[in-house]
Amino acid sequence: MNSYTLPDPSGHFGQFGGSFVGETLVHALDELCQAYDKYRDDPEFLAEFAYELKHFVGRPSPVYHARRWSEELGGAQIWFKREDLNHTGAHKINNCIGQILLARRMGKKRIIAETGAGQHGVATATVAARYGLECVVYMGSEDVRRQASNVYRMKLLGATVVPVESGSRTLKDALNEAMRDWVTNVEDTFYIIGTVAGPHPYPMMVRDFQAVIGKECLDQMPQEAGRQPDYIIAAVGGGSNAMGIFHPYIDHAEVALLGVEAAGKGLDSGAHSASLNRGRVGVLHGNRTYVLQNEDGNVTETHSISAGLDYPGVGPEHAWLKEAGRATYATIDDQQALKAFHDCCRIEGIMPALESSHAIAEAVRLAPTLSKDKIILISLSGRGDKDMHTVAEYSGIQL
Ligand SMILES: *Cc1c(COP(=O)(O)O)cnc(C)c1O
Repeated sequence: MNSYTLPDPSGHFGQFGGSFVGETLVHALDELCQAYDKYRDDPEFLAEFAYELKHFVGRPSPVYHARRWSEELGGAQIWFKREDLNHTGAHKINNCIGQILLARRMGKKRIIAETGAGQHGVATATVAARYGLECVVYMGSEDVRRQASNVYRMKLLGATVVPVESGSRTLKDALNEAMRDWVTNVEDTFYIIGTVAGPHPYPMMVRDFQAVIGKECLDQMPQEAGRQPDYIIAAVGGGSNAMGIFHPYIDHAEVALLGVEAAGKGLDSGAHSASLNRGRVGVLHGNRTYVLQNEDGNVTETHSISAGLDYPGVGPEHAWLKEAGRATYATIDDQQALKAFHDCCRIEGIMPALESSHAIAEAVRLAPTLSKDKIILISLSGRGDKDMHTVAEYSGIQL
């Protein structure tokens, strides 16, 4: 039986979550809550979601025993959940499929999103093309410059990319612009948020769509490994791949849940994105959670070698899991993640995303301290082809 039923009807996970938005968005969020409430258990909706995940995304993604690496480390057995094998190369597409199916049922004709590194923008543009809906993606102009190939990818998929020139011209400015668009065009527009953040019901809804990851593991691990894992490890940016794999295991008290934040250039350097480890409780993107902020409560600049972890907040459910003691959150820095990236390529023949490399690095640190009969399951959230230029640059190699 499931004893875990959060959030409450107002979207709270203990003191975290909720909905902190201007009056103009209250109605739009109410409408979304009602629609999601209507369809989340609707057999036809769930059947269509499952069909798309199978035929468009390529699910189920396998679990894979990293046998050679486990042997080399001489401790626990390391397994990967292969989200890198999904269409578009990461877990983000799972959630985008769920939200666009909901948008269609709500009669929305236009999709908007905001993106930092461009990965959520690409996933959103992909599903919008799949269903023939108009798609507008907001992106800070600084990010547009840094992520030119993702911008081109979105354009190939038929999306309009709008460079945002305000503030620091990065993710948080794109977010404000997307919100502004939504307020103005709420009648015909659906806003697809890419992680377990934002105002209620987004953290719950995105988690539910991503929970397909953990549900598959619940079935696959006994079949392939003989039993459930002892540890599940996942990288945490906003927290959606981690929530997706953690959630079905929350009631399995014997399974330790371990999130990994980006320590960037070091926790004391100021250049990191470790919101749960170094943030304070505040409000960001419409919910209460841990936020990286200075004494005056201004959101601080973040850094990680992996663009997908570079976010000053974290999903409110992770804040709750940390406070409740059900999950713990470690940190891995740029150099440790880079080493895990290289080792994974060389030892397993799999090029992981730099985000996922943080989870891998933590597993590689942990495995030798455990006996050989223990099992660590890692969320391999995405593939690393997109990161080749970054890795080459850090290694002083010109492509
Ligand atoms: C975006 C991204 C992440 C971080 O986002 P979460 O919401 O924390 O999952 C992690 N891994 C990959 C491959 C990503 O693209």
